[in-house]
Amino acid sequence: MHEHPTLPPSKLPGVGTTIFTVMSQLAADQGAIDLSQGYPDFAVPAPLLARVEHHLRAGHNQYAPMAGLPALREAIAEKTAALYGVECDPGEQITITSGATEALFAAIHAFVHPGDEVILLDPAYDAYDPAVRLAGGRPVHLPLSGPGFDLDLDRLAAAIGPRSRMLVLNTPHNPTGAVLPASRIEALARLLRDSDLLVVSDEVYEHMVFDGEEHASLLRYPALFERSLVISSFGKTCHATGWKIGYVVAPRPLSAEFRRVHQFVQFCVATPLQHALADYLRSDPQHYRELPAFYQRKRDLFCQLLAGSRFRLTPSAGTYFQLADYSAISDEPDVDFARRLTRDAGVAAIPVSVFYAAPPADQRLLRFCFAKADETLRAAAERLEAL
Ligand code: PMP
Ligand code: GLN
Repeated sequence: MHEHPTLPPSKLPGVGTTIFTVMSQLAADQGAIDLSQGYPDFAVPAPLLARVEHHLRAGHNQYAPMAGLPALREAIAEKTAALYGVECDPGEQITITSGATEALFAAIHAFVHPGDEVILLDPAYDAYDPAVRLAGGRPVHLPLSGPGFDLDLDRLAAAIGPRSRMLVLNTPHNPTGAVLPASRIEALARLLRDSDLLVVSDEVYEHMVFDGEEHASLLRYPALFERSLVISSFGKTCHATGWKIGYVVAPRPLSAEFRRVHQFVQFCVATPLQHALADYLRSDPQHYRELPAFYQRKRDLFCQLLAGSRFRLTPSAGTYFQLADYSAISDEPDVDFARRLTRDAGVAAIPVSVFYAAPPADQRLLRFCFAKADETLRAAAERLEAL
């Protein structure tokens, strides 16, 4: 680390630069096709861009209300009612955030006290653990089970103790592409009925669930929702990861606590984007309704392109990520294999072991992002097939 006479001890010792930055930078340095960090290489829908341009020029460039533009919160409430059959009060239950990342950070900081335990399910998205530790909490990492990355409720029940404050769920799941079925969520509701646990439900891939399944949002389960904060991201839904705009839906008392923190982490979110998204959600609801089919086609294309390769793929149930087992190609650890693949084959992917507190020793998995133009996927597959 850097020497400095007054450098205090790190608040996040052992934390390096996030794998997404590391792999995308390596991809750029090597001129590789970047299927690592999750972002589309295709355009934001033109009608949405037109609304952004309109609102920028119409002078909507000053602070938005702290909790979010009322028109956008109303549009989200309408979407939530239409998709999940839940009436939410846009005034008090929906808050616009600077991406899901801010929502996660503020939710954790609003409720986690020093010494509280927060249960994370590995492989876990890398923003959860540091946020818990910065809040003074103790992350308790439980592995998801089996090749399907299933939520083991007996293991969860055994991990819940007097210091447990929160469970972080993520469905559809990054990095595995697994989706929690409704039956598992109903069982979870029964398990948590008599506990004080809060649930942060990271549902940023809510519109990417495939094969005719429906997204089992926690919003659909009143007994769970009463203890939950449900998070989504327009970055994912609108192919605009660089906009960093998302939202949280929560019961009134949880929303009020959440806003106490949000107002001092971020205060408010880019005003013209909020106006544009409010217009677009209302004018083009087919965009998010057609997103499952849009991404399922890309998943199928990617899997089909690699069917003759030595990678082994089980098609993802959701998200825009596809896991691939490379054990027939190499027995290197995944971090080394991912680096070598970027350098030698010219395709960047994400090693899955970095999302575990205790990675399974014999797992040989990479995560590929298929939110890419078909030409990009074809070019990448051609290189991967040659291995
Ligand atoms: N949670 C998960 C599971 C994600 O994959 C992402 C994507 N980066 C985020 C949260 C953060 O979303 P955002 O870019 O809106 O901050
Ligand atoms: N969520 C994105 C992914 O999983 C990356 C976000 C980030 O780079 N922080 O690839």
